[in-house]
Amino acid sequence: MSTVDPILDRALKGERLQLEDVIALFESDEIEKMGHVANQLMLRRHPEPITTFVVGRNVNYTNICDTYCRFCAFYRAPGSKEGYVLPDEVILQKIQETVDVGGTEILMQGGTNPDLPFSYYLNLLRKIKARFPQITMHSFSPAEIHKMKEVSNGLSLDEVVRQLHEAGLDSLPGGGAEILDDRTRKKISRLKGSWRDWMDVMTAAHKAGMTTTGTMVIGFGESMEERALHLLRIRDAQDECLRNGYPSRGFLAFIPWTFQPDNTNLKREKATPEEYLKTLAISRIAIDNIDNFQSSWVTMGPEIGKLSLSYGANDFGSTMMEENVVSAAGTTHKVNIELILRLIREAGKIPAQRNTQYQILKVYHGNEQAAKDFVMQN
Ligand code: SF4
Repeated sequence: MSTVDPILDRALKGERLQLEDVIALFESDEIEKMGHVANQLMLRRHPEPITTFVVGRNVNYTNICDTYCRFCAFYRAPGSKEGYVLPDEVILQKIQETVDVGGTEILMQGGTNPDLPFSYYLNLLRKIKARFPQITMHSFSPAEIHKMKEVSNGLSLDEVVRQLHEAGLDSLPGGGAEILDDRTRKKISRLKGSWRDWMDVMTAAHKAGMTTTGTMVIGFGESMEERALHLLRIRDAQDECLRNGYPSRGFLAFIPWTFQPDNTNLKREKATPEEYLKTLAISRIAIDNIDNFQSSWVTMGPEIGKLSLSYGANDFGSTMMEENVVSAAGTTHKVNIELILRLIREAGKIPAQRNTQYQILKVYHGNEQAAKDFVMQN
């Protein structure tokens, strides 16, 4: 019997894993075993052979940023000739195009731009919601929210988040989590704040009634213990949300992926696809209080994306009509709905469009036999 067998057995029995268990899983290379257990745990929560996705668009409203993360190929420093802030009309046009193709979600993210006042965000959200009341604004990472607090003339974090929610912000993406441990954060993004700063924004969002997603990026030279701590810190924050009865379901999804070093100033070896699949499986096994785990197939490529649906993922993320941050780092997998449908079907699943709250809007039938075969095999 290997060292991971008793840990995986306990997870299958519904026992919660401890820090040393999660570290032991990260230190093991028995990824097939972990994938099998992650898939079993996924099927308990999602017994239908359906893989969901959301039709949405990334809007990078500004690339001006004073956080200077070492791994980021997207930002331009304040004062740079290549810096931009999109005019409101351009942003509204992009949202119109999203609505026109049946899209429901806008992931608006940008740099921490010191020249934009807090009123800019409130006015923009109000303008968007006045024209598109049906669109879900799943926008702004914790680093941007902290910048808004900084320029808000003394508002508390809770008040900043409350005002954003009132103006039309519905949900927070978990961007900028990277590794939720300060040793690694200091090395790669010294000015981005501590892991606690990141989590404080998520908790403020849960208290204000917004849902969020959690992310994790591996491959910065972090230790296995730091990866394990990251997962358990997310799990603890979700416990806190549910235990305290905040008016939110907290983290609706968790999304791990790997650092893409091309075109960045941070020289690191790319984490392997096996490392990614292992991390996804361990995330599903260790975080026992979040329902949805997304495949990062845009970053990892279509073939690994399909495999990820057997390693704990039940969701294919967003159609992401635009993704300047990832494509600036050299990952240029073109994305569209047809391709997503094809990949999900090739993995033996039935694709279904969902909204940001993970409610299914449309099931794309036509793959029932493959789905039946998939169920038989599992
Ligand atoms: S990752 Fe975000 S916060 Fe960091 S430099 Fe890039 S745009 Fe700025």
